[in-house]
Amino acid sequence: MALINENYLKLQGSYLFAEIARRVATYKAQNPASNIIRLGIGDVTQPLVPAVINAMHHAVDEMAKAETFRGYGPEQGYNFLINKVIENDYAPYGITLGEDEVFISDGSKSDVGNIQELFGTNNTVAITDPVYPVYLDTNVMAGRSGKLGPDGKFPGIVYLPCTAENDFKPALPETKVDMIYLCCPNNPTGTVLPKSELKKWVDYAKKNGSVILFDAAYEAYICEDDIPHSIYEIEGADEVAIEFRSFSKLAGFTGTRCAYTVVPKKVMAVTKDGTAHSLNKLWNRRQTTKFNGVPYIVQRGAEAVYTEAGQAEIRAVVDYYMTNAKIIREGLLSIGLEAYGGVNAPYIWLKTPKGMDSWEFFDKLLTNVHIVGTPGSGFGPSGEGYFRLTAFGNRENTEEAIARIKTKLSF
Ligand code: PLP
Repeated sequence: MALINENYLKLQGSYLFAEIARRVATYKAQNPASNIIRLGIGDVTQPLVPAVINAMHHAVDEMAKAETFRGYGPEQGYNFLINKVIENDYAPYGITLGEDEVFISDGSKSDVGNIQELFGTNNTVAITDPVYPVYLDTNVMAGRSGKLGPDGKFPGIVYLPCTAENDFKPALPETKVDMIYLCCPNNPTGTVLPKSELKKWVDYAKKNGSVILFDAAYEAYICEDDIPHSIYEIEGADEVAIEFRSFSKLAGFTGTRCAYTVVPKKVMAVTKDGTAHSLNKLWNRRQTTKFNGVPYIVQRGAEAVYTEAGQAEIRAVVDYYMTNAKIIREGLLSIGLEAYGGVNAPYIWLKTPKGMDSWEFFDKLLTNVHIVGTPGSGFGPSGEGYFRLTAFGNRENTEEAIARIKTKLSF
């Protein structure tokens, strides 16, 4: 009999969204007239912008002619897109990158999940808590976690709590860690780390030989001046950090699929005998072996994001979501709820009132005002007692939801 990778059996069930769907379906069956508004979704709702659509139509036509048809492209992405990324997303911040340091991919989910393959299974992993679950689960699959303990934590993982008590700024680990996942702006808390905080992490990584895996999937939502858009704005980060960016929330590519990962050549990790190897080389090897590139049509669509029209159009969509975020945040604050995020991110993270746990608050919101959000406990142990609402809905629903919360929610 073939043996399985038993680490998969250590994973917690994908309980969160299934349980939300079950509770909503049960309520709806008992209350068919209820008009349920979903503010739990982490997916965009606005269509691709015209500049992207036009570029993709043009690329489709190119695929129809022998002279312009494209087959397999470079696994790392086409240079036309890589150069736009470097010129627009990095050069304005004084960051210099080589074409072979940017890898175009089909999504940050794959990249943040796959990157751990480059690292030894004995590495110690630190993960902010609560956070996007992919970092944890992929390390569980790889065997870095041990078995889930009764406290809901994996003994092999160093959890870095981010709560209102520490202003959502993770403290440096007390023990030495090798891989550090940071997500800024953060999903689910919607909070960000200013330069001074990121500098602490870069300094820690340099001192301890750690690598920072910096997920900036929500970079486009940063509005405040002192928040770094890239970890490479911090001096020395190009020696210790890998950065992930995505077109998903930037330009509505959640279903179209395009992202990129920056692996500077200077970022190193060592063999047991202490020989240093460039992670850029290893990532290139991994991608060329296991990945065959993002479709030409999609990369042309992503390239159009950087045109003048593309920039104006995607900015309008991001502003639309951020107006929703403001409506949600201010609405919650106005009735005395503690709300965080929503200023540099499309997520609003609220403290459940009266010591309710995350699921109790979920049920209250569903039954009192017919609104669905996401229980914070689903994002990690420190998410208990919090709740996530998202700004990706349409304006009408967002306004209606907040009006209901203000007038009908009792707690
Ligand atoms: N990183 C974070 C923090 C996310 O919240 C998400 C999606 O929700 C992703 C990465 C995945 O992005 P992509 O659509 O590029 O796979």
